[in-house]
Amino acid sequence: MPGPVGAIDLGGTKIHAAVVDEHGRIVASDRRPTEAEGGLEAVLRRMTASLQEAATAAGVPAGRLERLGVAVAGAIDSGRGLVAEAPNLPGWHDVPLAEMLKARTGLATVIENDANCSAIGEHTFGAARGVDDVVYITVSTGIGAGIIVAGRVYGGAQGSAGEIGHMVVQPEGPRCGCGRVGCLEAMASGTAIGRAAADSIAAGRSPMLAQIAGEWGGASAEVVSIAAERGDSEAQLILAEAARYLGIGLVNVTHLLNPGMIVLGGGAARMRSRLIEPAIEQLRSHAFASMARDLRVEFAVYGDDSAVLGAAAVALRAG
Ligand SMILES: [Zn+2]
Repeated sequence: MPGPVGAIDLGGTKIHAAVVDEHGRIVASDRRPTEAEGGLEAVLRRMTASLQEAATAAGVPAGRLERLGVAVAGAIDSGRGLVAEAPNLPGWHDVPLAEMLKARTGLATVIENDANCSAIGEHTFGAARGVDDVVYITVSTGIGAGIIVAGRVYGGAQGSAGEIGHMVVQPEGPRCGCGRVGCLEAMASGTAIGRAAADSIAAGRSPMLAQIAGEWGGASAEVVSIAAERGDSEAQLILAEAARYLGIGLVNVTHLLNPGMIVLGGGAARMRSRLIEPAIEQLRSHAFASMARDLRVEFAVYGDDSAVLGAAAVALRAG
């Protein structure tokens, strides 16, 4: 039986390290800011310190852990243990992260993209256990996906598959953070909802949105959600529009991959009644009936822990 493994979820803003047993139980964990602007060496030090802290809390010497799995927000070459590109980690290009962490911790290390890890975490331990074909979709400040086909992560030719946030769903839409126009992420992410709210406020279309944005320090998806619950029709319209495009994205994913289950995670997935449920209704009514009928749509069981659990699952399997 493999012993507990170390797992780290490395994001642009936070590091989440954990000790995880073979049943997917988080024995102990540690969270701290990434402070990515400090550069590669500083981030590596914070990652190893965070793992050390989790291991101490778990009562397992870090050196006794069986392997280390790391989820990274970026384009990953998992076969070579490389972080090819990581837009949220300034200066990281072709970083041999697995090797560098092995040198510091003494643990055999495997790395994988964070959305893939979330998919693996939910597939191994959570909502999608026993389902062979799964798409995990995170709806947050951005929109991304991890794809599991026949029980294995589908990475495509370069390991970069799953960029569903950059499927074009509105060719006349606003510009996306990636530079293209009308991407799903530009139409339906938390960032897109916040920007639509800022435009409404600037145009004087909703005094209530303006007031709540003032109280909350700016227009955001959260502000829109509050205004919508208080009956503001402009806020309700913004969410309905975002839901419509998210629904188009779900239909496209379903037609492309015919998954057995779509798992939804990420902060914006908490806006169930006005964002997620209308998008799912759109999916049910616009996708091929035979595919929609048998498709299950579930929420991530582990929420923000999905990625660290997936990293642990990758490490457990690596033996
Ligand atoms: Zn884009």
